[in-house]
Amino acid sequence: MARADFTPADRGELYIGGQWRPARGGGTIAVEDPFTEQVVAHVPAGTPADVDEAVAAAKSAFEPWAALAPSVRAEHLSRLHQSLANRSDQIATTVTGELGTPIKVSHRVQTGLPLTVLDGYIRLAAEAAQEGEIGNSLILREPIGVVGAITPWNYPLHQVMAKVAAALAAGCTVVLKPSELTPLVAYLLFDAVHEAGLPPGVVNLVPGTGPEVGQAIAGHSDVDMVSFTGSTATGRRISHLAADRIAKVSLELGGKSANVILDDADLARAVKTGVGNAFLNAGQTCTAWTRMLVPATQYEQACELAVQAAKAYAMGDPFDETTRLGPLASATQRDRVHGFVRQGRAEGATLLTPDDVPDRGYFVAPTVLADVDPKSTVAQEEIFGPVLAVIPFGDDDEAVAIANDSRYGLAGAVWSGDPDRALAVAKRLRTGAVDVNGGAFNPLAPFGGYKQSGLGRELGVFGLEEFQQVKAVQR
Ligand code: NDP
Repeated sequence: MARADFTPADRGELYIGGQWRPARGGGTIAVEDPFTEQVVAHVPAGTPADVDEAVAAAKSAFEPWAALAPSVRAEHLSRLHQSLANRSDQIATTVTGELGTPIKVSHRVQTGLPLTVLDGYIRLAAEAAQEGEIGNSLILREPIGVVGAITPWNYPLHQVMAKVAAALAAGCTVVLKPSELTPLVAYLLFDAVHEAGLPPGVVNLVPGTGPEVGQAIAGHSDVDMVSFTGSTATGRRISHLAADRIAKVSLELGGKSANVILDDADLARAVKTGVGNAFLNAGQTCTAWTRMLVPATQYEQACELAVQAAKAYAMGDPFDETTRLGPLASATQRDRVHGFVRQGRAEGATLLTPDDVPDRGYFVAPTVLADVDPKSTVAQEEIFGPVLAVIPFGDDDEAVAIANDSRYGLAGAVWSGDPDRALAVAKRLRTGAVDVNGGAFNPLAPFGGYKQSGLGRELGVFGLEEFQQVKAVQR
């Protein structure tokens, strides 16, 4: 797909109660292409009044949707899958255009992954157990109700799908607010929803800003659960709003994951894979292994390998098939990341990679920092850019202590020539996921964080159960 295939148009409407209709307010949000730095389209800035209407539509759709046989809900999701799959190329070009993900990655991850997740929920909707028994009690798994979904920009369709597909499969109805930076791909999803003929009100779209629309959703008395992905700071705010009415929240938040490379590992493979993980999507990935922990005896060699690997991340137009590192999503994000790199150097880190970037686009160069103090800002804060901190350790105990010295606990990795030793270290990491020796991402495995990385799980059956509550009927 070429840049010429990216032809976004203004979208003037919201999707509420099965219909496209104008927003109540007159405000708009400009969508920028982070490579050309040009505004390419506008969408409406929704208002709390729009949220009220969307929540009312979701509320009246809830009972009939929840009452459908799970297999019928699965048929609806199958038609949605078909409509969405027909738009695959458009989805990839839209995410590359509004976010800057290199086009090859957009096809594989930004488009392929949400389709895989939806496919998984079609099967789970039909198969997941709705009932069980404990003694004289019938145990029913019932949908929670109206779900408010608030999503970020880094995997803009995947994060929506992880919530919407699971919630709909469970029998819930949804009001979605996508990120204001990347709303266009959400419009493609709702074009597919409309074409697939999902019952009116089952899923509703209100684009807008976090402080207006996001906050109205999180604080709405008829929203039974808020499912949020984004920063820990915003997750905390949403929790406070939901706590006022004891509404459930599910939070997928930040991370500062450690890639622990033990002294008997295949160092070259572990470093190369680790750099690839840290720089995927220009580092705008919550699970990114942004701290590379290597034995002190192999530190210089690991740093050299990391610098070599970083050189392969050619910056350029994300529509160019040879580009491996696109721009960051916004000028704000670029400036935030540059600020972290400056602070890291001020706190003693050594910059091992060149920092020159193309003239145009919100780029941050692929960055490797050495001599990073595990307590320093760049080792503790989620940076959300292509910045890797390489940290030495003495023995396995010290590696585990450094890895766990974080308020986050989302993901991580362990590499060792001895699988038992790797698993023993993996078990000691206080995170929701660990990949051993490059174990592949599993879209059916539970995904979520320990500590301040979140609450609850997404994906697979654990993700579906997040949207259910249990009832005991004694007989
Ligand atoms: P936010 O957490 O602020 O944004 C995520 C979503 O929450 C967006 O839809 C946003 O709306 C919405 N939101 C913002 N404020 C509120 C609010 N008060 N009430 C309800 N919803 C709200 O992340 P940012 O986009 O500001 O990114 C900042 C940093 O967060 C990044 O540098 C990164 O470190 C981290 N982040 C982490 C992510 C992850 O997956 N772990 C994902 C994204 C960001 P709006 O569209 O207006 O922004």
